[in-house]
Amino acid sequence: MKTLSHRALQVKESSTLVITAKAKAMKAAGENIIAFTAGEPDFDTPEHIKEAAHQAAMGSFTKYTTSAGIIELRKAICEKLKKDNGLDYDPAQIVVSNGAKHALSNVFSAIINDGDEIILPAPYWITYPELVILAGGTPITVMTNKSTGYKPTVEQISDAITSKTKAIVLNSPNNPSGSVFSKDELQAIADLAVKNDLYIISDEIYEMLIYNDDTPHISIAALGKDVFDRTIVINGYSKSYSMTGWRVGYSASNKQIAEVIGNIQSHRTSNINTLTQKAALAAETGGKTCVINMRHAFKNRRDVMYDMVKEIPGLDALLPDGAFYVFADISSLCGKPAYGTVIKNASDFADLLLERQKVAIVSCGDFGCENHIRLSFALSEEDIVEGMNRIKSFVKGM
Ligand code: PMP
Repeated sequence: MKTLSHRALQVKESSTLVITAKAKAMKAAGENIIAFTAGEPDFDTPEHIKEAAHQAAMGSFTKYTTSAGIIELRKAICEKLKKDNGLDYDPAQIVVSNGAKHALSNVFSAIINDGDEIILPAPYWITYPELVILAGGTPITVMTNKSTGYKPTVEQISDAITSKTKAIVLNSPNNPSGSVFSKDELQAIADLAVKNDLYIISDEIYEMLIYNDDTPHISIAALGKDVFDRTIVINGYSKSYSMTGWRVGYSASNKQIAEVIGNIQSHRTSNINTLTQKAALAAETGGKTCVINMRHAFKNRRDVMYDMVKEIPGLDALLPDGAFYVFADISSLCGKPAYGTVIKNASDFADLLLERQKVAIVSCGDFGCENHIRLSFALSEEDIVEGMNRIKSFVKGM
């Protein structure tokens, strides 16, 4: 038979979903699994948001809408971007999509020509390189390390720029490292992007999950007119309002990009689910008490987890400023003979940990960082303590 799409064949299976599925299957088979793999808050979606969707269904708000999203929602998003981020958009610059993931997919399709290079500071969210490849681009990794808080320096980004570079992807707070860019760091990257005529894709989906007052969220798009015009802001409701299953996110960009994104979406998917649009409107206009409560719980869990990580020799981690993951370097444990085998890398570590201690974690090779692991703290404190104790005895027995 004729070959399938070369681009599509390059796309890898999501390793986070593989380990999550494995842990779920073991749990279903009756095993006592602790999963540190969750990429979603474990809280229920707030009542007022569910109620809005219910009302929408009962009021038969169930037909096609404008492809880019109902005007009330796009207006509410503009108000949020103005109030929270100091960004001045009008509704024609907003496209509401099926999650931030879909918004990102639209953006890459909108800006990439064959062979264009997209700079991805590592660690990066696992989906970015795959979406870049699908759009015909080439992901270019910029490696970071603990000494800069897993953030790229402007020199590193500058060294990665070639005549083919089209854009830089920034994700602050970062999945998986939890690091948050400061204003000065963002300003330096903004200046570089303006100087080299690059787009910036700024994924701000974890913006409301920041735990330190001295690292506030800043959108790079707010740092000047030039950078505003060339930045595409990505955001959504999955993490801040615990709405992962509803599938709603958005892009905010200059008018030309928004129009191209809107055209792509109008043919690929049309509008997102109408009930979800009303739910997102309720989230956007219903106040932030629910977000503040979740953030408070996450902060406590982060502290519990980080204190226990520090006690385990071989797990080298920074206190995350945001998101809901502890990102640990386990290089010193790799290459070691243990449990009758050799733990070559983080992936072996994760497999053996699941097998022996029934603890599921994410190994970060596909996030661009070999020998690192990601531990989600989106689970109860009780489970965090139990799971961390199991990791402790696993490492002790190595
Ligand atoms: N960006 C980042 C950094 C993420 O971690 C995720 C979810 N894991 C997304 C985007 C996508 O979120 P959603 O599609 O659920 O809005």
